[in-house]
Amino acid sequence: MTTAIAPAYLWIGAQEQLIHKTKNYLRSILCAAAGCLRCIVCRQVDYEQHHAIMWLAPEKEQYTLEQIEVIHRTIAYRLDDGEHFFFILSKADNLSALCANNLLKSIEEPPVGYHFILLAEQIDAILPTIRSRCQTEIMHGSSTLSQHNLLAFFNTANGNNALTFLKELETSKIGERESIQLLDTLLAAWITQAKDAVTNNNINAYKQASVYIELLKKAYVKPPMPGSSKLFWRNLFLQFQAVA
Ligand SMILES: [Zn+2]
Repeated sequence: MTTAIAPAYLWIGAQEQLIHKTKNYLRSILCAAAGCLRCIVCRQVDYEQHHAIMWLAPEKEQYTLEQIEVIHRTIAYRLDDGEHFFFILSKADNLSALCANNLLKSIEEPPVGYHFILLAEQIDAILPTIRSRCQTEIMHGSSTLSQHNLLAFFNTANGNNALTFLKELETSKIGERESIQLLDTLLAAWITQAKDAVTNNNINAYKQASVYIELLKKAYVKPPMPGSSKLFWRNLFLQFQAVA
């Protein structure tokens, strides 16, 4: 359907970021409109209910051989031409050597149409034998980190350097969903600051916080559209600057 899909991927990053990336990727392949976010396929991917995806996670602390056995049994079925099936192994850091070795051959040469995506936080925790069989990608800056990076520009009242901000924004990976989370975090932070200001009888600080709270509430009404998150944050930054 799209460009060649590798037999096995190993993606390293923060858990939430990896799940987000995985779903985006799967939607781009399985949705007829390459990830429209609205169709039934996109929603099934989102809810982890798509028939061509098996989501796996360690039972308690570790993956079990039974789970690996399920994979073996599944790939024993031949897929139709052009059909794809994906195994997603989240927290692959928790694959024991025994389980990993059991998976090696399947990962190296899965039957046509079957693919593996291994998600892990630490590349060091992945056996070299697994690593060498996967197309590996290490995410730069987890989503929490990039949120944190941008946060610093919005949670203090002293005017921030616009150039520094724009540079930070350029390199950050902020999407629509993270933007909403970031708005939540900021709003909570400023409400706390406003309360503190009241407690400390600091009228100026209270006024300042209230202005920011208003700006954030307005921003909620018009959240970023797909692909416009950076523009959204740039505009919000300018508004913050204007009232600093
Ligand atoms: Zn779709």
